[in-house]
Amino acid sequence: MKAAPFDYRRVTSIDEACRALADGGDDARLIAGGQTLVPLMAMRLARPTLLIDINGIAEMSGIAIVGGHLVIGAGTRQAEILDSPVVKNHLPLLTDALSHVGHDQTRNRGTIGGSLANADPAAELPLIAKVLDAEMVARSVDGTRTIAAASFFESAMATALAANECLTEIRFPLWQEQKTGYGFHEVSIRDSDFALAAAAVQLTLDNGGACTRLHMAIGGASPAPMRLGEIEAALMGTTLDDSLIHAETARLAALVDPQGDIHADAAYRRRVARVLTERALLSARDRAIGANP
Ligand SMILES: Cc1cc2nc3c(=O)[nH]c(=O)nc-3n(C[C@H](O)[C@H](O)[C@H](O)COP(=O)(O)OP(=O)(O)OC[C@H]3O[C@@H](n4cnc5c(N)ncnc54)[C@H](O)[C@@H]3O)c2cc1C
Repeated sequence: MKAAPFDYRRVTSIDEACRALADGGDDARLIAGGQTLVPLMAMRLARPTLLIDINGIAEMSGIAIVGGHLVIGAGTRQAEILDSPVVKNHLPLLTDALSHVGHDQTRNRGTIGGSLANADPAAELPLIAKVLDAEMVARSVDGTRTIAAASFFESAMATALAANECLTEIRFPLWQEQKTGYGFHEVSIRDSDFALAAAAVQLTLDNGGACTRLHMAIGGASPAPMRLGEIEAALMGTTLDDSLIHAETARLAALVDPQGDIHADAAYRRRVARVLTERALLSARDRAIGANP
């Protein structure tokens, strides 16, 4: 199929994009990498009347450490983030997760902002934003606001972004503690596919090996990526022994509510979510100890 007719406008600044969104009304859409939107338009599952091309906005691309945050422009290509030594050094969890997002061709075009705004429940980047408490900066003709990841991902393919808002940058808080480790594990049908389920963990240990900070989240097992606060609370302060991790992650099956589809039924996703979470916790703990750099 071919896309329904639409008007096209290329903009070169965030202000211009915001004005175009305001002028275009509810049926105007931004296009970034086009890796999701173009197929949807070709299948006529999306029929924007105005396409606003944000690929020429230089101010929306880049990676920098600002204060205690890693700040990434929403228009930054996924390939650039994956290859960035700054990201690998300061936020290896993001690098690891990105290596599972699509493949070279999709990452060369796809942007971090496009993936977050699209909010696929099985996408890796929303999961990482959620587990790390990232902040999403959104701008419209009415001004700029910052949205915490906890309230940004509302449901499957639904975010807190208003129709007239452009996501401009993402701020990941950096963890300064020395004994910090991360774990990311996913199961997908093929390497480049969305996850059937994925688990992400970042944690900190004190010198005695007790857990002083713990963030855990699961993707693909609920309409939006989900923080696992109950399990985090139960494991905090412990030395994260194998048996305790096994016992606590067993509770996960009752906490998640995955949808079944042609690729995997709900029972399988529930089971695999538990196993992946256990593996992610073990990887994170071992990296924090220094046993698995
Ligand atoms: C073969 C293939 C395999 C893939 N595999 C995976 C995978 O394993 N994991 C995964 O997570 N993804 C996967 N994807 C999707 C890919 O990551 C896309 O890059 C991503 O979902 C969308 O990013 P984009 O920049 O292409 O956005 P676009 O397709 O341009 O836009 C997507 C949506 O976001 C909106 N949008 C874009 N930028 C902004 C912004 N700055 N502010 C507000 N709204 C915005 C658009 O209006 C649109 O609604 C795959 C895609 C393909 C084609």
